[in-house]
Amino acid sequence: METKRVRVIGAGLAGSEAALQLASFGFDVDLYEMRPEKPTPAHRGGALAQLVCSNSFKGLALTSAHGLLKNELNMLGSFLLKAAERTAVPAGESLTVNRDLFSEEVERLILACPNITLHREEVKTLEGEFPTIVAAGPLASDTLADDIFKRLGSERLHFFDAIAPVVETESIDFEHAFYKNRWEKGETEDFINCPLDKETYDLFVQKLREAESIEPRPFEKHELFEGCLPIEEMARRGTETLRYGPMRPVGLGINPTGKKWHAVIQLRAENAQKTLFNMVGFQTRLKWGTQKEIFSMVPALKNARFARLGCMHRNTFIESPKLLDETLRLRPELPCANGIPPTWFAGQITGAEGYTEAIATGWYAAWNLASTLIHGKPKPLPEESCIASLLRQLVFPNENFQPMNFNFGLLPHKQEMKKKNKKEILGNEAILAVTKWLQEREQFPYAIT
Ligand SMILES: Cc1cc2nc3c(=O)[nH]c(=O)nc-3n(C[C@H](O)[C@H](O)[C@H](O)COP(=O)(O)OP(=O)(O)OC[C@H]3O[C@@H](n4cnc5c(N)ncnc54)[C@H](O)[C@@H]3O)c2cc1C
Repeated sequence: METKRVRVIGAGLAGSEAALQLASFGFDVDLYEMRPEKPTPAHRGGALAQLVCSNSFKGLALTSAHGLLKNELNMLGSFLLKAAERTAVPAGESLTVNRDLFSEEVERLILACPNITLHREEVKTLEGEFPTIVAAGPLASDTLADDIFKRLGSERLHFFDAIAPVVETESIDFEHAFYKNRWEKGETEDFINCPLDKETYDLFVQKLREAESIEPRPFEKHELFEGCLPIEEMARRGTETLRYGPMRPVGLGINPTGKKWHAVIQLRAENAQKTLFNMVGFQTRLKWGTQKEIFSMVPALKNARFARLGCMHRNTFIESPKLLDETLRLRPELPCANGIPPTWFAGQITGAEGYTEAIATGWYAAWNLASTLIHGKPKPLPEESCIASLLRQLVFPNENFQPMNFNFGLLPHKQEMKKKNKKEILGNEAILAVTKWLQEREQFPYAIT
């Protein structure tokens, strides 16, 4: 191995996991965290691996996507997941932690590790001497974000403020929905249309107007409403606003009563397998329970399962499909990779949305950095695994790339699978594949502890 020293930027969820993994592989790690000296708009104080909002890592059951992902991370020896288990609070079927104790536990592990040096300072550039993992999160400091922005090109680092809900295709009621193109444009019928009659639409708008939203934080207020309006805001502007906006019922033909449809929610494919569709233009700040309740008023979405619900907050991420390979490395052949050390990205900045996903990508970037430096090539996880599936979503060519949580729709589906026990089959396949991969990793010179 040529170099034993590596740099990790950001001691959040992804960076802390990456640093601990790299140290366990025998690397000397310079871990940089700018807080508390330089705060972010959402974190408080200098605590490492801070959970900025909810204190939950979501479900534990193997029949839930996050349960499966956590199980995989446990098999792979995630340090942060173990720390979460040690600081868990009772919360039924989910892994929920005392956030302060969790941060303290992660900090304890990092400070106790002789080959990690924690630098409490801001990194301002990707330039540097040592191979690097960038895990600066969705609130990366402006100076570093500017450097990344300049280096990767203006279209490659997004600031966005809205996330539309994503529905599992299987849960859409096709008695009340149909495929068609959007607004009579294009040859192919790629959109799923969920139409509403006047009575349902009027009630839907009324419920949106009355619904309770999540208050924007002070730092979000200015940015949120400049670009795209949340649907509840549109509803409050007038009964017809949505009908002339995202719910425009153009080119749908006539309904069973012989009249034109009054309004429509259109869904666009979210992945190549079309197991997930997003609700076009449906960014919202409504509380999650309220979203489910209101969307279930739409006949086609009566029993819809949501892989992601809508939300709005400041979020910085790179255009991973164009920039990263499937090992999370900044493609070395790109001109923007010239003049900087080999660089991997991890965490929310890659577009992997969520706490557990941040830990998973931190683990994966560290693993691939280590195997690349030691063996000259990475050793990817099997395609059936949760992490490889998450990665496919991140690097699959996608002009409308948006952050996403891990969910069952991302796992490789085989045609012949029965609906009933699909999740169980997919889960078992993932576990078996990772078990086999771990057995074969004996050829690898370093151990996962
Ligand atoms: C307001 C908000 C609320 C969220 N709520 C949830 C939620 O409830 N549940 C959920 O699953 N996900 C949530 N997310 C999404 C995401 O899961 C979290 O942001 C998660 O913490 C991402 O992990 P990370 O390691 O990528 O980034 P972070 O955990 O944010 O870690 C990045 C670290 O890098 C440091 N840093 C930044 N720039 C520099 C620099 N130049 N030099 C040195 N250090 C630097 C930061 O101080 C920070 O400690 C939320 C995101 C935001 C912004």
